[in-house]
Amino acid sequence: MTPDGVRSGDVVVSGGRVVAVGETGGRRGTADGVRSGGVVVSDGKIVPADREARRVIDARGAYVLPGLIDSHVHFRTPGLTHKEDWPHGSRAAVAGGVTTVMDMPNTVPPTLSPEAVLAKAELVAGTSLVDYAFHVGADPDRPELLADIDPGVAVSAKVFMAGHHTAPTVVRDPGQLDKIFAAAAAGRVRLVLHAEDDAVYALLDRWRGAPVRHRDYERYRPRTGPISAVAQVVRLVERHGTAAHVLHLSTAEEADLVTAARAAGLPVTFELTGHHLSFTDVDTRRLGAKTRLAPAIRQRADQDRLWEAVRLGEVSSLGSDHAPHTTEEKCRPVPDAPPGLPGVQELATAVWTGMRERWPDESPDVAMTRLVRHLAEEPAALFGLRGKGRLEIGADGDLVVFEPDHRWLFSARDVRAKCGWSAYEGWTMAGRVRTTVRRGEIVWDADTGTFGSPTGHWVR
Ligand SMILES: [Zn+2]
Repeated sequence: MTPDGVRSGDVVVSGGRVVAVGETGGRRGTADGVRSGGVVVSDGKIVPADREARRVIDARGAYVLPGLIDSHVHFRTPGLTHKEDWPHGSRAAVAGGVTTVMDMPNTVPPTLSPEAVLAKAELVAGTSLVDYAFHVGADPDRPELLADIDPGVAVSAKVFMAGHHTAPTVVRDPGQLDKIFAAAAAGRVRLVLHAEDDAVYALLDRWRGAPVRHRDYERYRPRTGPISAVAQVVRLVERHGTAAHVLHLSTAEEADLVTAARAAGLPVTFELTGHHLSFTDVDTRRLGAKTRLAPAIRQRADQDRLWEAVRLGEVSSLGSDHAPHTTEEKCRPVPDAPPGLPGVQELATAVWTGMRERWPDESPDVAMTRLVRHLAEEPAALFGLRGKGRLEIGADGDLVVFEPDHRWLFSARDVRAKCGWSAYEGWTMAGRVRTTVRRGEIVWDADTGTFGSPTGHWVR
């Protein structure tokens, strides 16, 4: 306590448009939860707005959002820290308004057991500006582990149905996949899936050879791969009742399949990435290796269907799939160049920019409500993060001051990821994260370019 009776670390944000999603917010063009006012944080939690506070943040002309949640990042610790690490990755996160991340298991060694997750958590402690949780990897040789996963250790189990350079254990055998779905259902563990069908790609490669130029990559890793895999996922969910979240949809057909399955009552949901919403095969000709991704970036008609899934609220989470590689790695010949790009910093502003370009006549309150629904509220609910994703009394004091009309040029100088490059260099962003607060601490201030302290917690 300070002499005037105000606790240190207390923050009040005033004068903004506060975005709380509410029951229908973001769906069917509503913005019920948006109101003018402020948010007060005391002892790291949101408290009633009549309290005073030591530190005042003026949010006039800006939105006040709950701290954003990126449920799909690869921060590369342990073993791959030449590409990315938590000090850099978490700085990129807060500069993009993200206050909680969920880290993927394909590190070296991969985290395929609760013990491995605990060992990773020890390495991460004290190095992160953001709060975090972990996905454990599904081990095809020990599917029975999934029947007994503590949700306090892992928020889900990741299944790689296709191989790429950093995938630890690809599940190619349909029998093993079936066992994983059965064990996850028994243990009430949600599966998150990289759904591409490796057998489809192997067959095509044997027939006509593997891609040799980056611009051919989409043609050689065509839509057949993910569509076939998503159809398998839907059948397995039907058989076992497993909760399944399909990551990074790239095609119109996948969006139709998952939406139809969900409408039929199956517990299946999906994620869209910032890059599949931001780029098409026209961009990949220019960007080359930077937009070499798995699944590949596809055509405009696919991108239109993915945006439609945002407009209709069919998508559950928006994720970055932040997966940096060094420039040297990305510039290797095509067979050796790893897929992936950094994106946790760019995710919210790129999606906002896309919303304003696609739907210029939509009320900004409605658009921002959609963004908050899929970047905060739904990921928190899907992965069971209590105290996250909502601006309500008693929740963690995570919030973002977002300037919706601040246009600025995103350049390599702005990149906080360790790899130092971005596929979004040269983009004019339609909004800016001005301030990010994590549990009452200012962890990013865009006006001064300063960060807070690496006191992020494991959310369990
Ligand atoms: Zn990923």
